[in-house]
Amino acid sequence: TPRVFSGIKPSGGLTLGNYLGAIKRFVDMQGQDYETIYCVVDLHAITVWQDPAELKHATREVAAGFIASGIDPSKSILFNQASVPQHAELGWIFNCVARVGWMNRMTQFKDKAGKNAEKVSLGLYAYPSLMAADILLYHATHVPVGEDQKQHVELTRDIASKFNKDFKAEDFFPMCEPIIEGPATRVMNLRDGSKKMSKSGESDMERINMTDDADTIAKKFKKAKTDPEPLPESLDGLSERPEARNLVNIYAALADMTNEAVIAEFGGEGWGKFKPALADLAVEKLAPISTEMKRLMDDPAEIDRLLLKGSDRAKEIAEPILQKTYDIVGLLRPG
Ligand code: ATP
Ligand code: MG
Repeated sequence: TPRVFSGIKPSGGLTLGNYLGAIKRFVDMQGQDYETIYCVVDLHAITVWQDPAELKHATREVAAGFIASGIDPSKSILFNQASVPQHAELGWIFNCVARVGWMNRMTQFKDKAGKNAEKVSLGLYAYPSLMAADILLYHATHVPVGEDQKQHVELTRDIASKFNKDFKAEDFFPMCEPIIEGPATRVMNLRDGSKKMSKSGESDMERINMTDDADTIAKKFKKAKTDPEPLPESLDGLSERPEARNLVNIYAALADMTNEAVIAEFGGEGWGKFKPALADLAVEKLAPISTEMKRLMDDPAEIDRLLLKGSDRAKEIAEPILQKTYDIVGLLRPG
């Protein structure tokens, strides 16, 4: 059975973008014929400053978000990255395989570093090489992600190819595919339709958090930026309207409908009708999840136990692959 790997950083509270672009699809893949491995990627989170106490909280909260959304720790392997040291070990090897020129092409680094590229951590720059290690440590071939991670998954393929070629280890690391599907592969910021919604975005008003209450969700959609035109009668009418298209995409993804079906239902209607319907739908889908997240967060020790169990299962797969990698490279490492 093909192996799926994906992760989410505990760099803040989970957003609707994380839910629709990632977690909801992780749950779908768990129900199909895959071996699914899902990780709270805490080592990635510290590439930018994280308050230590908040990091622990966020790590458990992302785990709770996974479980509350339907990731079953007995069906999927669910763990946090820091508890499986093999990730960092393989990450170092890949730092020595990946080229500086490859990293310089990563658009996410450019976005995150902004004008301040001299002042960001070296870890932020090397991040995609650790991400390649996350995936290849399990010989995973299927990587469900949002649109923004496509380039990093492609880089993972480049690292795998170069490793296999340099060490004449044909097919040792398999080629992986990004799985980017559905109407919400890039959920946009509610205040600026040209930027993606992110956990670490500046303003809380630009995102829906999975734990927002009904009033907050209604308020954020009500204040979401749009143009004044009503919804178009056909999909073509959304092409030059990024904010309108974003809200239609969100509706479609939440309702498991196509964009066409959303337009068939709401075409010609104004925002005064669509936004409250969207808010109601989001509350209907998110409220049970956030209630369950809160319940799980009441017992952090239980979350830690589940993560520990998951990390034991992850290590069983990872350790032999890492051991073989060290051997291929010529590093002595008593197994
Ligand atoms: P940060 O701002 O700290 O980078 P983030 O919200 O981008 O946080 P990540 O942990 O970087 O979240 O990404 C986790 C997963 O969620 C990835 O698969 C990513 O592609 C997906 N994802 C993140 N934001 C969106 C979005 N706006 N729309 C769709 N998918 C998203
Ligand atoms: Mg991100």
